[in-house]
Amino acid sequence: MKITHVDTALLRVPLQQRTITDSQSTVTHVEFLQVVLKTDAGLTGYGMNWSYTPGLRTAQIAVQENYAPILIGKDPAFRKQITKECFFSNHFIGRVGSTRVALAACEYAMWDLACKQANLPLWRYLGACRDKVKAYSTDGGWLTWSQDDLIRDAMNLVSRGFDAVKIKLGRPDPREDLRRIAAVRKAVGDHIDIMTDVNCAWTLAQGKQYGGRLKDYDVKWLEEPMKPEDVTMHAELAHAIETPIAVGETIFTREAFRDYIAAGAVHYVQADSTKLLGIDEWLEVAALAASYNLPVVPHTNVQHKLHVQLAAATPNCVLVENCYESLNEMWEEPIYVKDGFYNLPQEPGVGLRIRDAVIAEHRIG
Ligand SMILES: [Mg+2]
Repeated sequence: MKITHVDTALLRVPLQQRTITDSQSTVTHVEFLQVVLKTDAGLTGYGMNWSYTPGLRTAQIAVQENYAPILIGKDPAFRKQITKECFFSNHFIGRVGSTRVALAACEYAMWDLACKQANLPLWRYLGACRDKVKAYSTDGGWLTWSQDDLIRDAMNLVSRGFDAVKIKLGRPDPREDLRRIAAVRKAVGDHIDIMTDVNCAWTLAQGKQYGGRLKDYDVKWLEEPMKPEDVTMHAELAHAIETPIAVGETIFTREAFRDYIAAGAVHYVQADSTKLLGIDEWLEVAALAASYNLPVVPHTNVQHKLHVQLAAATPNCVLVENCYESLNEMWEEPIYVKDGFYNLPQEPGVGLRIRDAVIAEHRIG
């Protein structure tokens, strides 16, 4: 089988849900890059990547100018070799960031071809360890919501079968963060997990002072308390407070995960395949985490269909995030959370094909 064509589509899709704000961003739209690999065998591979900040056009250009000339004429069975060649085609200016995001989209499309050739969904192709995947909800708990709205939404999620919800931290006065967590804990009771997420807004001193008090509310983890580039600060915080630390959604390399894990700076490894070099590097990070007996809980906003399948095939990946539910219908064969668990997709492939009608409506490039 040889790749004959590389097509791309860039979309900007509005979110059809209430205001989404964390300490860094207010999200109104999500951009998607769909990569399509056509082959001489008649199979078509679909990959994608995404961003809730604008600028994915740079990734589209990387696919068109750097990766497409390498991909065309190649046998996708040599995925790892091709990915390496693509990486070095622009590594001097793009070892991480949008070029890496672009390459992951191509890597998924090559995986999609492999799964379709085997006529298996990704999770069956990899070899499964579970037939459904537990979900927790991030589709609420936003920073600018009132305390009453936080509570109302958390109770609604619990009534839908979720037993774990995330609440955003990082308000101008951290004491207000603590009051909101206390109120949600009181409302949902002791049997519901509460995760918290600062989106990198705190200093180390704030992490120690206010993160140190989260244990009073039995918080499951403190996510991205500080900027992700500084492993040493996270290690110091992890050793100073009782609440476990979760990081990963803005970490782009397996080596960065290695440094976090080796330093004892992370307890929940939130490896996101769409930030890494696709599925192969995600599996390497998950194996690394397993060797330290650490759970992997992949960060997911729109890429849950990918991560649910990886979780189904990864023993130490026991939980997957659920977010941006209003975008579920944009995928061919969407999956859903029911009674707190994701079902697994059944069609062959990786499952990242965006519906043609969605592309037609929201295409910007
Ligand atoms: Mg987060």
